[in-house]
Amino acid sequence: MQIVCLDLEGVLVPEIWIEFATRTGIPELRRTTRDEPDYDKLMKYRLALLAKHRLGLPDIQQVIAAMGPFDGARAFVDGLRESYQLIILSDTFYEFAHPLMRQLGWPTLFCHSLEAAADGMLVRYHLRMPDQKREAVRRLKELRFTVVAAGDSYNDTAMLAEAHAGILFHPPENVIREFPQFPVTRSFSELRQAIDTAFSACSKRRD
Ligand SMILES: [Mg+2]
Repeated sequence: MQIVCLDLEGVLVPEIWIEFATRTGIPELRRTTRDEPDYDKLMKYRLALLAKHRLGLPDIQQVIAAMGPFDGARAFVDGLRESYQLIILSDTFYEFAHPLMRQLGWPTLFCHSLEAAADGMLVRYHLRMPDQKREAVRRLKELRFTVVAAGDSYNDTAMLAEAHAGILFHPPENVIREFPQFPVTRSFSELRQAIDTAFSACSKRRD
């Protein structure tokens, strides 16, 4: 059995925080782990900013729904699901991804979660587990699935290395340089081709 594990942001949908910052005109929300390496500090800062601007979950979801997935993402996902099992492994939150998942036809998603108060304000975040992308791939292999994984960035490289085959999609130059072992794709058709090729190479290796 074959499973494709796909990253979400930067592959199927825009970077949620960056796009959200642009659409709401709150530039401070563009801060990423590159500016603040302490993830807990960064998330608390983001949640405090949302509360300061009185943006509750329904407002946030409305903005995210309007972003929409990338052109061609829905057709790409549908096509993959005809041939393989698909799991999206993301470091986003269910509450943010929800409006985008609707537009992608509700594929399976493993990510983190947020806690909202009765007035809709976000009060806390919950990471499902550390290093969940790699752990998920490892467990799927234990269940005897052949796994091909694709993602665009640093937080995907452990998952790509753990999978039977890893593929980069639209990666930044520094990731290409640091991880030359992964093939680079730049369109959905190239990515689909690379996934099909990787699975057929895996099954030949097993023969
Ligand atoms: Mg990404």
